Amino acid sequence: MSRIFSSAEPGPQLTWTAMKFTLSPKVAKTTNAIHRMIRTLARWWARRRYIFKQEFEAALEDLQAALSAQRAKEKRDLAAQLRKESDDMETRVKQMAEMEEKGFWLCDDGHEIPVSEGETRHKEQDEERIVHDVRQSCSQCGKEAKLIKRSDMTGQEQYESDKGRKEVETMIAEKRKLAEQHDTDAKGGDDTEKHFRRQAASSREVADRLRKL
Ligand SMILES: [Zn+2]
Repeated sequence: MSRIFSSAEPGPQLTWTAMKFTLSPKVAKTTNAIHRMIRTLARWWARRRYIFKQEFEAALEDLQAALSAQRAKEKRDLAAQLRKESDDMETRVKQMAEMEEKGFWLCDDGHEIPVSEGETRHKEQDEERIVHDVRQSCSQCGKEAKLIKRSDMTGQEQYESDKGRKEVETMIAEKRKLAEQHDTDAKGGDDTEKHFRRQAASSREVADRLRKL
């Protein structure tokens, strides 16, 4: 039998039991408050973490976009450079063909001196075969120069000249093809950049939505 009911005089044991009964609802209330606080804190923290995750992803996606843009620019620059080289080579091929037709002096150092009017007239007066062996010194370096003229070339020399020109033309075609490939890659880079920019915007949109929750 409990002492609460058995004894009229309140002893220490009764006081303690009574206290327990009185305190209990208060303790439960405090526990609930802590639980609510933890829940609130967790929710606040989860939202912060989630927002941070979204912002972090957006930042990553922006970096990926910037990398793609950088690569695209490099490819585009490379393509432009190759096109410029191709144009220059084409101009040179055309120029060489014209020079070969008119005739020019070529020294051992590679200096090219156009045949002057006088020389041409002089040559026309000479017999054709003699001109082929004509040599003179280069006006720029003084080294021996040889007259290059298509009409004076042997069949073999013309063949070699044409072969050389065709090789350069093949190189030009390859350069142009490579430039096109780089342009295609650059466009791919642009698409990748756009993709990552959209991803970043979408990640930020989610972060903004979370802030309003
Ligand atoms: Zn020279």
